[in-house]
Amino acid sequence: MSEKTPLMSQYLRVKKEHPDAILLFRLGDFYEMFYDDAKVASEILGIALTSRDRRKENPVPLCGVPHHSAESHISKLLASGKKVAVCEQTGDPKQAKGIVERKVVRVLTPGVVLDSENLEAKKNNFLACVAERENGFGLSFCDISTGEFRTCFFHSREDLLSELAHVGPKEILIQDKEREPPWLGSVLEAPALVTRVDSWKWETERCGEILRDGFSVLTLEALGIEKIPECVVACGVLFDYLRETQKDFLPRIEFPRYHDTVDYMKIDEWTARNLELRSSAEGSVKHSLLGVMDETRSPMGARLLRRFMSYPLLDVEEINKRQEAAAELLENLSAREDLMEALARTGDLERLIHRIETPSARPRDLASLRDSSFYVERLRCAMADLRSEALESLRERMDDFRDLRDYLEAALVETPPALAREGGVIREGFSPELDRLRKIQSDGRRWISDLEERERERTGIANLKIGYNRVFGYYIEVTNSKLSLVPEDYSRRQTLAGSERFTSPELKEYEEQILTAAERIAGLEASLFEEARERAASEAPRVKAAAAVVAETDVFCSMGEIASRYGYCRPEFVPRPLVELRDCRHPVVEKMGLESGFVPNDVTLDSDADRFMIITGPNMSGKSTLIRQVALASLMAQMGSFVPARAARLGIVDRIFSRVGASDNLTAGRSTFMVEMVETAHILQNATPRSLVILDEIGRGTSTFDGMSIAWAVSEYLYDLGPLTLFATHYHELSNLADVKPGITNSNVSVKEEGGEILFLRKLVPGATSHSYGIQVARLAGVPPKVLNSARKVLFSLEKFKASLSQSMLGGQLLLFDAETDGESEAAYRKEELLADDLAALDPMNMTPMEALAKLIELSEKAKK
Ligand code: ADP
Repeated sequence: MSEKTPLMSQYLRVKKEHPDAILLFRLGDFYEMFYDDAKVASEILGIALTSRDRRKENPVPLCGVPHHSAESHISKLLASGKKVAVCEQTGDPKQAKGIVERKVVRVLTPGVVLDSENLEAKKNNFLACVAERENGFGLSFCDISTGEFRTCFFHSREDLLSELAHVGPKEILIQDKEREPPWLGSVLEAPALVTRVDSWKWETERCGEILRDGFSVLTLEALGIEKIPECVVACGVLFDYLRETQKDFLPRIEFPRYHDTVDYMKIDEWTARNLELRSSAEGSVKHSLLGVMDETRSPMGARLLRRFMSYPLLDVEEINKRQEAAAELLENLSAREDLMEALARTGDLERLIHRIETPSARPRDLASLRDSSFYVERLRCAMADLRSEALESLRERMDDFRDLRDYLEAALVETPPALAREGGVIREGFSPELDRLRKIQSDGRRWISDLEERERERTGIANLKIGYNRVFGYYIEVTNSKLSLVPEDYSRRQTLAGSERFTSPELKEYEEQILTAAERIAGLEASLFEEARERAASEAPRVKAAAAVVAETDVFCSMGEIASRYGYCRPEFVPRPLVELRDCRHPVVEKMGLESGFVPNDVTLDSDADRFMIITGPNMSGKSTLIRQVALASLMAQMGSFVPARAARLGIVDRIFSRVGASDNLTAGRSTFMVEMVETAHILQNATPRSLVILDEIGRGTSTFDGMSIAWAVSEYLYDLGPLTLFATHYHELSNLADVKPGITNSNVSVKEEGGEILFLRKLVPGATSHSYGIQVARLAGVPPKVLNSARKVLFSLEKFKASLSQSMLGGQLLLFDAETDGESEAAYRKEELLADDLAALDPMNMTPMEALAKLIELSEKAKK
């Protein structure tokens, strides 16, 4: 465009400040979008793309949405990961010389959403910020729909990523200079928008100042993070971003609280995914642990349950308190039912009160708060007879803010309109002045109909009507046929096809009174509503505390409900690492509607006895399911929940590690085997004697020898490290480890072979299996008989060789004593002698398994020649 109109110059000036956002530019009753923004937005919103100045050479692409329906359109743009900048007319069009002043009043991004349309009820909507420094990483995260603001520090990137996976932010702020962080994609369950923030904003002193100023504190000591510059920066940058994007709309945010992950059981992001905690491998929440455990009835409870799952406890006393609450609600069915019913109606108090703290709150928010108070009272009554420590304490703290409810009941009508400006929000009897004005208005209507009657009589025009329209106000309408009867004191207002409209001095005078009353009613209602909002907002701390209490009650009810519904048991804790589960089940798989039902199993791992179990058995026999169910039971127990078993004795574990199945992560550019090894390395580097490790098929993604050697070496290393370990493998050669390492046991998930057919019994029994039944499973899967036959032949010759190999792997040392050489000929003798020399020269105790394997292959080649 060569010459720009003043309006387009203004647009381009504003757009320049928000290059990465879709700019909604207010023009009268519309928000318009231009250029690329218009192209992108019209596609996302499914609205027409037109153009401005169509007759010119390069017309500007344009699309627009009416301002009153902008919210739903903004929601759609945010949901597709876009940022939206809202530019309003800030000057008064009547006073403006030239074009009216315009300014961006707010920037909306997926991480900063307040309105309920854009929020998932059962999830927090977090904006996160990662500050990387030499010593480690500062992470901060904030949900502006609840005001929660927390921060943590991590020495390692791995710990940072684990935490990020739990937080599951919608948007992450990183420093401008950082290269594209490839790790993000692989960590998060759902994609997040990555926003780069200019480097100069990450300066510690500046960030400290922002926080001191923003939270009105003299020193950061009050926030407990003054000695952790990484956290100061992460919080400062995040808060600054909120202020910049939200401007006058920023709700009150809590002080950033330091969140120490040391206090909780750690679950890294791989484990969370492998165990399908929050969503199944196919992305379904229903078929995840959360899907089974979530019987909460309020969004606050659902969010808290998620948090319980991300941060299982380490303190037995705390766990016991939760268990007691769940136990009491399990037993007391009537209390549980009453509570669940009231919980379902309580509403999202936490987000509600937070919205009420902002000026954009609506009359219905206040009405919901009023109604919720009633259900909080119901909750407290339903808890009257509950005696467990946790529930008693909740009842004592269950504040139904009755005084606020009484006030709101007096102030608001039963069902207020959606918008305050529609009027009719304030209840009769609340304000004498409002009542007086309303009376004038309603009397006015009666007066008008009286006047109509009087004028009909006076003029003799039987069909004379008095009406109202916005432009001309009140008028007297006379049809054309009666115009001759119109008296002198009428003056003409409007001419229509079949009639004329007039006014009279008397009508004019009264009109003024009524219209002033209407105006004053609107003004007074608005200010009374604002007063009520402020009154409610001033009680925010109380309501938030009540919301937290309601959320906890909800989670305990949910725990009691699932324990009752699915027959879970209360686990007992012992002071040493132990897993002792009787008739344990997998909480998700058992609900899958299996044909012959789920077969429960006993599993024991004991740090003082057998602490390492190798589980062999064919594919599909149920090994993965079994080891996962043990990990899930341990996690559920430390959340304070009951577990899917008949009886359970457990020791506290500091971390759960899992490496399950072969999961390609091609988006992060890693092959199956690489992923497997990265996860394995992570476990070996981080497991402690108090951890629980479950491994499924280590070394599967490479050649058999490679894989077997790695599996062997990993087992030995883990054994020395000492965590409780379950290792499911189809390398039945590994079962030899149990012969040389006390504390390692063999088990297998049993199968029955009948006439070449394989029958899965799903029962864990002691001892190893001798083969993997791969061919039988292949037959079950429908592989053609010809392929199966030749596979059998290959297997036969391979097994002959492997038999000798497994002997020689005993103890991790490679001894070549059973090679199938023909020892009878002299030449063979000589060859053996030579090989014996080679062997004598080896120092097996100082070889790694890989070196040993390489040597074995070399010697084997030599022997064959
Ligand atoms: P593996 O790891 O040995 O290949 P899985 O654990 O993946 O086997 O189990 C295969 C299937 O067997 C599961 O999807 C499930 O349907 C079924 N299954 C597993 N364990 C049991 C059980 N204890 N009872 C009944 N069915 C089971």
